[in-house]
Amino acid sequence: MKRNSIFERDEYRCVYCGDQFPADELTLDHVQPRVRGGDRSEGNLVTACKGCNTLKGHQRLSAFLHQAPDARVNFFRYAVHVWPRHLRTVRVELEMLDAEVKKA
Ligand SMILES: [Zn+2]
Repeated sequence: MKRNSIFERDEYRCVYCGDQFPADELTLDHVQPRVRGGDRSEGNLVTACKGCNTLKGHQRLSAFLHQAPDARVNFFRYAVHVWPRHLRTVRVELEMLDAEVKKA
């Protein structure tokens, strides 16, 4: 089953809080939503605990990481299996959000 193979790959660790959970407390999260060119391939999926997934809600990943500094650090530490082009997109979006804060 695909779900479990992603959890295994990520060592049952939520990429946002960095904690490990049993499979029934985990969910799969898309790095890039399907409407933005993301697909259901393993390079676009990460393991997230239910708590973090709820916190993230329907926000863009970059928007969520921008207002959750710990999640941002954990994501770039643990989401090592995400396709580089998706990671690049998230980094660029975060830099833009950082720049907006500096301007304000
Ligand atoms: Zn979590």
